[in-house]
Amino acid sequence: MNLIIFGPPGAGKGTQAKRLEEKYGARQLSTGDMLRAECESGSDLGQMLKSIIDGGQLVPDEVMVKLVAFAIQDEACANGFNLDGFPRTLGQAQELDAMLSEAGANIDHVIVLEVDDGVLLDRIKTRAEETGSARSDDNEETLKKRLEVYHEQTAPVLPFYEEKGLLRKVDGMASIDEVTEQIDAALGAKVAA
Ligand code: ATP
Ligand code: MG
Repeated sequence: MNLIIFGPPGAGKGTQAKRLEEKYGARQLSTGDMLRAECESGSDLGQMLKSIIDGGQLVPDEVMVKLVAFAIQDEACANGFNLDGFPRTLGQAQELDAMLSEAGANIDHVIVLEVDDGVLLDRIKTRAEETGSARSDDNEETLKKRLEVYHEQTAPVLPFYEEKGLLRKVDGMASIDEVTEQIDAALGAKVAA
């Protein structure tokens, strides 16, 4: 099963993506984690990426598409994958579509975690205070930019998948376990149908 887990910054994509991997064997591919690993390597590319990420902007589509094309070919994705943080632009969604059809594959479900902006701001503030090694992009100023970018560049991806009948909307403001249950229900219903 190939999934996309979609939602604004701080929606809890990573938390649910891990559970999806455990339950369904769909390998979690977190583009945020991949990019942070590159940043930590201290390479020139990493330094360039860090300045983009800390500014709350999106890394260029060409870079992201190459990263994902490479990741989904890996053997670890033999039982499918769940993309956490990709696609984030319409261009990325179109490129993903093209690479999957070339491989004779497709996306089965796009799970959308719906969370209001005010709730996201509160969550990120807590995440910044609680984690000792806080993410350098988890501060109020960068989050506001990330939210703006989400509404301008990422939310327009939704109609693309809606037209394909793939959207499964979930209340991302419910508790973590309730969100998992809603996702299971959405997948179960569609898988059985
Ligand atoms: P979560 O919902 O798990 O809290 P998040 O949306 O806050 O996640 P990440 O997905 O970890 O954050 O992404 C962090 C940053 O990495 C983004 O703000 C962006 O700069 C960059 N990034 C990640 N994925 C992409 C992508 N597909 N295209 C462009 N930039 C990306
Ligand atoms: Mg994440």
